[in-house]
Amino acid sequence: MTNVSYEGSRSHYAEGVEFRVSTVQLLTATGTYIEAPDQRYRGEAVASVVLIALGLRANSQTRHHTGSLSPGTWSTHSVSCFADMTVEQILSRLTVGTRVTFPGGATTGTSTIVLVVPGYKESSALVLTEETPFHPVSHSWPDQEGDRGSLTVGKATLPVVDTLTVATTTDGIRALYVDSEIPVRKVVSGWTFFVAHVVPIADPASIDVVEGRPVALAVDADRRRALSASHTATHVAALAMNKVCAHMWRKVADTDALGNPDLDRIAMERSTITISGATDTYRFGKSLRKSGFSTDQFCGEVDSVSAMVNQQVNEWLRSRARVAIEVAGPTLDAARTWTCELDGRVAKFPCGGTHVVGLDDLASVSVTYEISDDAHEVVMRTVPTRQDGSTPLR
Ligand SMILES: [Zn+2]
Repeated sequence: MTNVSYEGSRSHYAEGVEFRVSTVQLLTATGTYIEAPDQRYRGEAVASVVLIALGLRANSQTRHHTGSLSPGTWSTHSVSCFADMTVEQILSRLTVGTRVTFPGGATTGTSTIVLVVPGYKESSALVLTEETPFHPVSHSWPDQEGDRGSLTVGKATLPVVDTLTVATTTDGIRALYVDSEIPVRKVVSGWTFFVAHVVPIADPASIDVVEGRPVALAVDADRRRALSASHTATHVAALAMNKVCAHMWRKVADTDALGNPDLDRIAMERSTITISGATDTYRFGKSLRKSGFSTDQFCGEVDSVSAMVNQQVNEWLRSRARVAIEVAGPTLDAARTWTCELDGRVAKFPCGGTHVVGLDDLASVSVTYEISDDAHEVVMRTVPTRQDGSTPLR
């Protein structure tokens, strides 16, 4: 409900300034208000946030607010697990980012629950733990799908249907930002990042899944292996493509970890990594041509590019090179670097995903290219076959 409309506010403000006040019902005693970004800015793309802030003293009856901060989309959800904790205490439990063990290849672990957010997307909840082997989908570059698996708390085992990145900030609205709502990339001071396990139950407290309880975490290891195979395969395919296409550049370009012009990074539009392979979409438009790459030559020679990329990738697989993830620290927001020795050089670049431990874990990799009708987009599809004989999962 709007108490003061944009139009109605104008007479109180200088020319061109407007303001809006809406009513939000909170089912608790409160002496505060929620400042929504659309209060002053009409039509702004406004992130939805799960607000657990607002200086309320939360108790078992407190409701908090979730949903998009745009007119007409407010909704409330019960927070039944914050008994006798103030919001400051809740956020104070979230000052240290989640410790992650997936960079070392872990798929199981034990930890303690630090926060349960019920009512996420109505019928689910988010469970945050001190430490986890679960790899979350990145909020800023969502290439690799989040892990799935299960959480066991006491006698209850809950499926984990997705794993997300969430963040809090000491700046501005004190809130828990979920996945694509997070307005910053990593490594920004004042922000802390966490792994959120999505469980398909609206109120985990009803089965005693609450803060402070010990939890056993188990990732679907076969699915993880498939995702890791796809992720490693796409990096190796990209390096091979850069090498094979090095002669197609007419100007000096930024180079990749092996010293070849970095077509993959320069043209990259988006990357999707699933259990059945990886799909990289490259923009082959005017700006790539301006930077000196002959898109005509690529499109004209795509069959031989494809043959040579496949040959190079599978030659590198036979080198049995080790793949390692170097980590700058134990928490989710610490920098992670993919490293692999190829052509006598150590290839390194930033990568937040999971990987096989050696190229010999992949029996073979198939790389294909598809050029859009207007030749403005090229899609590279990379499908690995794992050494244990399994073809990609469906
Ligand atoms: Zn990566």
